[in-house]
Amino acid sequence: MSYRRTVDFLLYDWLDVESLRSRPRFADHSRETFDAVIDTCERIAREKFAPFNRLADTEEPWFDGEKVHLPAASHEAARAYFESGMLAAAQDYELGGMQLPCVVEMAAHSFFSKASIGVGGGGMLTSGNANLLMAHGTTMQQEVFAKNEFSGRFAGTMCLSEPQAGSSLSDIVTRAVPDGADFESDPLGPRYRLAGNKMWISNGEHELTENIVHLVLAKIPRADGKLVPGTRGISLFIVPKKLVDESGRLTGERNDVALAGLNHKLGYRGIPNTLLNFGEGRHPVRGSAGAIGYLVGSPGEGLRCMFHMMNEARIAVGLGATMLGMAGYEASLEYAKNRPQGRPIGPGGKDPSRPPVRIIEHADVKRMLLAQKSYCEGALALELYCARLVDELHTGEDEAPTLASVAAPRGGAAGLGSGPAPGRSRARLLLEVLTPIAKSWPSEWCLEANSLAIQVLGGYGYTREFPVEQYWRDNRLNMIHEGTHGIQALDLLGRKVVMDGGAGLEMLRATMADTARAAAGVEHLAGHAQALLAAVDRIVGATRAAWSTGSPEEALANATPYLQAFGHVVLTWIWLDVAARAARQPAGDPAVAGRLAACRYFFHYELPRIDAWLGVVESRDDTCRTMSEDAF
Ligand SMILES: Cc1cc2nc3c(=O)[nH]c(=O)nc-3n(C[C@H](O)[C@H](O)[C@H](O)COP(=O)(O)OP(=O)(O)OC[C@H]3O[C@@H](n4cnc5c(N)ncnc54)[C@H](O)[C@@H]3O)c2cc1C
Repeated sequence: MSYRRTVDFLLYDWLDVESLRSRPRFADHSRETFDAVIDTCERIAREKFAPFNRLADTEEPWFDGEKVHLPAASHEAARAYFESGMLAAAQDYELGGMQLPCVVEMAAHSFFSKASIGVGGGGMLTSGNANLLMAHGTTMQQEVFAKNEFSGRFAGTMCLSEPQAGSSLSDIVTRAVPDGADFESDPLGPRYRLAGNKMWISNGEHELTENIVHLVLAKIPRADGKLVPGTRGISLFIVPKKLVDESGRLTGERNDVALAGLNHKLGYRGIPNTLLNFGEGRHPVRGSAGAIGYLVGSPGEGLRCMFHMMNEARIAVGLGATMLGMAGYEASLEYAKNRPQGRPIGPGGKDPSRPPVRIIEHADVKRMLLAQKSYCEGALALELYCARLVDELHTGEDEAPTLASVAAPRGGAAGLGSGPAPGRSRARLLLEVLTPIAKSWPSEWCLEANSLAIQVLGGYGYTREFPVEQYWRDNRLNMIHEGTHGIQALDLLGRKVVMDGGAGLEMLRATMADTARAAAGVEHLAGHAQALLAAVDRIVGATRAAWSTGSPEEALANATPYLQAFGHVVLTWIWLDVAARAARQPAGDPAVAGRLAACRYFFHYELPRIDAWLGVVESRDDTCRTMSEDAF
């Protein structure tokens, strides 16, 4: 099955993306315009990205003391990507954008991630940076910085982490002090001088673009010179690598941002990862040390501004993880179809006189392929569904999140996308609980898919002569950045499922119940529908049990098993809904048989895992929490 066919099915048959044309923002679009964008991305990915995936891994970025060098192929891929207009795809026409729905933008982007995650300059980081400025920057900041990022003239970074502050951003110590008496009258925004070190900054230094726009979190000291503890003291600043004037022209002055060194990574090597020193005096500006930064939004609002982009950023990370899994799945499927090895086990055992069969004929190899298919295609469906919710949030009708609003789906399946327009409030509630899963589930399970891909290739999979080991190394990052797995788990159980009196969880439960109701009438799916209902009840019960003593310490000690079980139930639901839609398509199509089999696999082999995960959550098992340090 070609990947494009899977994308088309999910977009047009399952999510009914064409119906978005009824929204004024998307009125000029049609399936033809959506397809044209996807065709272009598919072509550029095939021609400019895929052939250089290994090169991006072996020719790591290097620093000559002045500049960071990347292979020529990275420059060419970045140029082709910028020229495609994808950096501004979701923006207004007046900004040079295409007013593309987020769901189509994500689908189009998936082709780049599958072809090569490391080539092409990490465009999503730049568009995320610019989108943030469109939401929180001044008109001048949008004109000077965001627009030049959308055109590909400038690139963008996100500078949050510091050597001592990763998961706990409240502990950052980068300082920002007003720059001169007239600091508030700078047309580019209140002007500050920043000093501090930012660790792990992706794309922090390179020559792919004329300039780099760093978005930096820093604290403005109080009058006594001390930093405000906690996240409330954090502000956000634009710190350009090279200073610019009000029309965006480079002034010729270098800002005081210096590359302290490159980090040498396990995977994702095409993207330079940097330690940046701000304001150490390496490049003094107008005679003094301190990096010039322009305040975005109000002081103390830095994290809130950053988190504005969280839904899209986390969906993008989940999608990247999914596509690495998908690339491994495709490679191992191809290999399994061609590799002769071993004899089949017949009713009388093995017959050594028979010629070997191709390994795809062994049940255990099919198990590994089916696991990969169910993880990766399921994760893709989840990411596109979440992106569709983002479109709903931005352009849907507003409505109170009543249960009535989630009922009455159109057609046979509960049709996540084929139901009535979900409405903004409902989309917001669903995104609250689904975003940690959209980020974390593919990061864990599409990584597992990569491991299975290596297994399918046997010894060859373990060598650098085949591509699957690189996919695994590239994917290993995704459980770490954008909030580690453990932090996502704390966010889900500690905040998302209990906020607003548990409204998000209740909305998800009701939406899953719709799917189960619709699937109950579909041949072969009735049993699955019952199993889904039981699983979601178990999740709701486990949530209550975890919090029953009211002790966060007890409840959250098993947040990660909870996240794993929650994610598996979400994917079970997604698969049931996809299968219910697939079942309405002509029988005999191998794609339909494949979707139904993947759904069945998920129910039979994956869903039962939640027992073990939820067992420790429900009993508030204290094995890990009470383990003493010296007993290790
Ligand atoms: C390749 C790469 C690219 C990156 N790109 C960027 C970037 O562009 N911009 C940027 O700002 N950052 C970036 N990061 C940083 C990334 O977001 C951090 O690495 C991540 O937030 C974790 O921080 P840390 O590495 O300090 O680990 P720590 O926070 O020290 O965590 C170590 C372990 O402890 C666990 N842990 C920590 N706190 C708790 C807690 N309260 N409860 C339970 N468990 C806890 C974590 O889950 C983790 O398993 C990047 C990182 C990498 C590796």
